[in-house]
Amino acid sequence: MASYDFTWKIMMLGDAAVGKTSLTIRYISGFFLEDLKLTIGVDFYSKTTNFNEKKVKLQIWDFGGEERFRFLLHQYCKGANAAFFLYDITNRLSLDHLPDWTQIIREHAGDIPIMLIGSKVDLQEFRAVSRDEGILAAKKYNLSSFIELSSKTGQNVEKAFDVITEILFERYKPNNDEENSSTNST
Ligand code: GDP
Ligand code: MG
Repeated sequence: MASYDFTWKIMMLGDAAVGKTSLTIRYISGFFLEDLKLTIGVDFYSKTTNFNEKKVKLQIWDFGGEERFRFLLHQYCKGANAAFFLYDITNRLSLDHLPDWTQIIREHAGDIPIMLIGSKVDLQEFRAVSRDEGILAAKKYNLSSFIELSSKTGQNVEKAFDVITEILFERYKPNNDEENSSTNST
């Protein structure tokens, strides 16, 4: 039986088709699949990594962003340690929904770190949201970090998970957090 110093639950959130499933699969398997089926409800993945000589298990919860699955959100948020909010840099509307989503996350999951992700950065010629606008949005809604990435090319994919792991590590490191509910062994 493997044992972990930390197990963290990370939620993938954002509108339909922004690339949540592609990012999850790219990170887990290293592949980009062109033809993903619509995520129905929630899919669940996990990956073990190392950080500061600690063994960390990231549980990635990929949520179907469709309106008709919203009724599942409340359950989905339970026990989450962090969230990725994805928008598509070629689709301005997908960033406009950020305030709604942050409110939902904070209502159901508490004050967890939220990282803003501008996806599909390989599609530069169709860009509709500038990098600066992404940075400003992250500041405005008090998010923990911001990155642009591409699940197609792999650019910044590892980096995004490294950043969130570092943020979580800072938050849950044992020496200054007595009530660390997320430390456990499996
Ligand atoms: P989800 O609904 O948020 O899970 O989005 P998907 O991961 O299913 O992706 C929606 C569409 O965007 C699919 O056709 C993907 O192939 C495409 N896509 C996802 N990530 C990228 C990317 O980084 N670059 C490009 N060019 N297309 C992407
Ligand atoms: Mg999906």
